[in-house]
Amino acid sequence: MTSTLEIHNLHVAVEGKEILKGVDLIVKQGEIHALMGPNGTGKSTLAYSLMGHPKYEITQGRMIFKGVELNDLDPDERSRLGLFLAFQYPVAIPGVSLANFLRMAINAQRRGNDPDDKGISIPNFRVMLKEKMDLLQMSHEFAGRYLNEGFSGGEKKRAEILQLAALEPDIAVLDETDSGLDIDALRIVASGVNTLAGPELGVLIITHYQRILNYIRPDFVHIMLDGRIVESAGAELAEHLEEHGYDWIREKHNGDLVEV
Ligand code: ADP
Ligand code: MG
Repeated sequence: MTSTLEIHNLHVAVEGKEILKGVDLIVKQGEIHALMGPNGTGKSTLAYSLMGHPKYEITQGRMIFKGVELNDLDPDERSRLGLFLAFQYPVAIPGVSLANFLRMAINAQRRGNDPDDKGISIPNFRVMLKEKMDLLQMSHEFAGRYLNEGFSGGEKKRAEILQLAALEPDIAVLDETDSGLDIDALRIVASGVNTLAGPELGVLIITHYQRILNYIRPDFVHIMLDGRIVESAGAELAEHLEEHGYDWIREKHNGDLVEV
């Protein structure tokens, strides 16, 4: 059965201020969606809300994944259901290699599904990790690096994509806020997504810049403005944005933004 992430009329407040004002979005396994929009319109807020960040208060609406209401699940439970959020573990963990971290993450996921699970054996894990690294054309020595310690922007992205490959989620949400300026990081994410994309994986890639879409061709493009998705179309919408910027969207939807 195809896994689906459904967002219905989602309203989210941060510190009492309403940021998302009724977002509707459906992402299915096997589809690549790009969520674009000017800065400060709520794209990252949507990503944090999907992750279950405590600061983001759902005031109305629903998020449903595989038929399960996400609103009351903690981030771990969401991840175990098969939802991947790129910035789940943004911190450096001194003394923990990327390989060990990935094994712990896989085992936590397995144990979440079956409390008696003994975890993946070390030989099996090594074989799996090598396969994934070869697929992504990453050097094996990278997995021995301590997690995020002294990682460049590109290496952080590489670690993120390897985590995505190892956890094999049904739907991945990637917020590319900071990589907008770094072409190396952008290429790593794009080629990772292109390699891993297929019928088993749905992707929601959040980006301010059209540039990453020169490397990934999305099936659907959505534009967020002032806490709502105001336009949805195919890849041609991103091309239109590259040519015309966001101004026409603002003009077209100005009337919608009047508070009632
Ligand atoms: P985008 O990712 O589209 O640039 P954000 O979701 O980061 O937009 O931000 C949308 C709005 O919400 C902005 O006005 C921002 O200031 C506010 N906001 C987001 N996160 C927080 C937070 N943690 N605390 C206070 N305000 C926030
Ligand atoms: Mg953002």
